[in-house]
Amino acid sequence: MTAAKTALFPAAYMEQLKAALDFMRDGSRFLVVAHVQPDGDAISSTLVVGWLLRQLGKQPVMINEGAVPVRLHFLEQSASIINYGKQPPEEKFDRVIAIDCADFRRIGLANACFEDDALLLNIDHHPTNNAFGSHNLIRTDAAATVEILYDLIEYAGIAPDTEAATAIYTGLLTDTGGFRYSNTTPRVMQVASLMLAEGVKGHWIANHLLERMTKPQLLLLQRGLSRLTFSDDNQIAWLYVAFADMAETGAIGEDLEGLVNYALNVEGVQVGILFKETENGDVKVSMRSAGKADVAAIAQSFGGGGHVRAAGCRLEQGIQEAVASVVQAVREALNR
Ligand code: 5GP
Ligand code: MN
Repeated sequence: MTAAKTALFPAAYMEQLKAALDFMRDGSRFLVVAHVQPDGDAISSTLVVGWLLRQLGKQPVMINEGAVPVRLHFLEQSASIINYGKQPPEEKFDRVIAIDCADFRRIGLANACFEDDALLLNIDHHPTNNAFGSHNLIRTDAAATVEILYDLIEYAGIAPDTEAATAIYTGLLTDTGGFRYSNTTPRVMQVASLMLAEGVKGHWIANHLLERMTKPQLLLLQRGLSRLTFSDDNQIAWLYVAFADMAETGAIGEDLEGLVNYALNVEGVQVGILFKETENGDVKVSMRSAGKADVAAIAQSFGGGGHVRAAGCRLEQGIQEAVASVVQAVREALNR
């Protein structure tokens, strides 16, 4: 594993790694929580933190506001992540590790399990992260939170086993869109390579997560594409999914992932947007940029956040109003 020792980080980041590890070593029971509607990096990061705490002889309790996406059930220990919405625990925790959350609100309702004076370690890679923890481990040029967790494991001098390596690889794979996005740095490939050497079945995970589709997922895609709309200059493309579409196609929440890319991937499109109507009539917005517009800034102006090229927000508006206001904001950003 000597090849892993090539990463050189600024002293301030090394300090953060040390403080994060001390935070883990100092406690005994920890609550580990990632953002609502967890994606591949959120679940993988939860599992890697849980794994690392167990290596350190600690007791992690892993939780999320919602369910682990079905597609991620192959990850070892994923069944131990408590679904807060289904079975909120009685216990409160005075040591919390929040991962892949740009701000405190992204934790969602599971924050009810925090003691009022809980110490909170915030581990994240979002540029919009506001350092909401009592301790913060943030590296915004990391492609995924699992990449930071690899730094931490390496710093701790612990070698990942296949279980941890599979989760790390999965977080890297999903947050880089299959090692294709601009966040696919040499460090990403280096860590991915080390994980493969650890026995990770990279081809199986890629096929399972990026190629295969369920029939309801394809039916949902069909509906979404039938509504694809372009701005006059074809620089903005968007589509929407109505709440009724979910039940009518049999699709589940995770089937929405990737849909926005069909809007972005059209030649000439600068920003692709997916609008999803939620159960209570609010609209969840996913934005993707080809590089010209900073969608994190646009999302932030609506109370959301994310990355320059991938961001989101939630609007308490009907779908038509949400489309009108977000498309207008994107138009202004592109004309700036
Ligand atoms: P997605 O569109 O896939 O839900 O999210 C894209 C990126 O934006 C992710 O990094 C996600 O964490 C972030 N994001 C999505 N929705 C929100 C939101 O409502 N608030 C914040 N702060 N970030 C969001
Ligand atoms: Mn992430």
